[in-house]
Amino acid sequence: MTKRNCPGYAIGGMSGGESKEDFWRTVKLCCELLPDDKPKYVMGIGYAEDLVVAALMGADMFDCVFATRTARFGSAFTSYGMIKIKQERYAMDFGPLSEGCYCYACTNYTRSYIQRLFTNKTDNSAIQLISLHNVHYLIHLLRGLR
Ligand SMILES: [Zn+2]
Repeated sequence: MTKRNCPGYAIGGMSGGESKEDFWRTVKLCCELLPDDKPKYVMGIGYAEDLVVAALMGADMFDCVFATRTARFGSAFTSYGMIKIKQERYAMDFGPLSEGCYCYACTNYTRSYIQRLFTNKTDNSAIQLISLHNVHYLIHLLRGLR
């Protein structure tokens, strides 16, 4: 592939069933073999730890449904792990989804309010807010690495 002088390279084609160690070893090998001056895109990774490890190995771009798919189940990323907004303990929690986050959801809505929205099955606003937050979280995470 490097002989083709492509504008960039995708790393993928793995089934998703391999161990993390095998996956990271493959990403590392590909990043070492591909030219430094071309963008490297790792397909289908969305867990924060995978993004961090792949970025530190030299990968530049990623994509995954995880941030928005997990939002549909009420899960929000935070720097201390994922929270499940459906849990009763957030009913009276008037803090943001993630302390210190400056996304639209965190600057305008509380955990309590988003949980209340989540219980309304005819309204997708909570899912949209958590999706905005989760995508923002990952972008902010990678900006920090840059
Ligand atoms: Zn946020």
